[in-house]
Amino acid sequence: MTHPTLTPPSALQQIPAGHLNIMGYVNESEVNGPGCRAVVWVQGCLLECPGCFNPASWFFEENQLVLVDELVERILANPRNQGVTFSGGEPFWQAPALANLAAKVKAAGLNVMSFTGFTLEALRSPAAPSRCPSPARSARPVD
Ligand code: SF4
Repeated sequence: MTHPTLTPPSALQQIPAGHLNIMGYVNESEVNGPGCRAVVWVQGCLLECPGCFNPASWFFEENQLVLVDELVERILANPRNQGVTFSGGEPFWQAPALANLAAKVKAAGLNVMSFTGFTLEALRSPAAPSRCPSPARSARPVD
């Protein structure tokens, strides 16, 4: 059975290749995971959880488009960063671009963690966001 929240929002198709649509970015945080880390809040979430502290992150329309490589540079330019946290919004709707970012910062020795509103079962299902047909303009294989 397909979970209704696994239907890809059409606005994802407007994200240019190699970019993320984010709500915000913090270059140094000590309250979003272990140690000192960069935090990427992606834009867009369908779950509408009661009590969500970040409802401004729900819409999928373009907010801040950033190049993945530019974000990687900013993260690695700060020697205090031990890792990167993905939050949102729902990171897994932009999984291919975040996986690309994760691979690059991990290669530089940083660790990566992600918040998500999906269950592990949903993420492992054939209809999981990262397995959905790639958005036309943002399709890029995960390294
Ligand atoms: S999954 Fe997170 S961002 Fe989405 S509605 Fe729930 S708490 Fe808010």
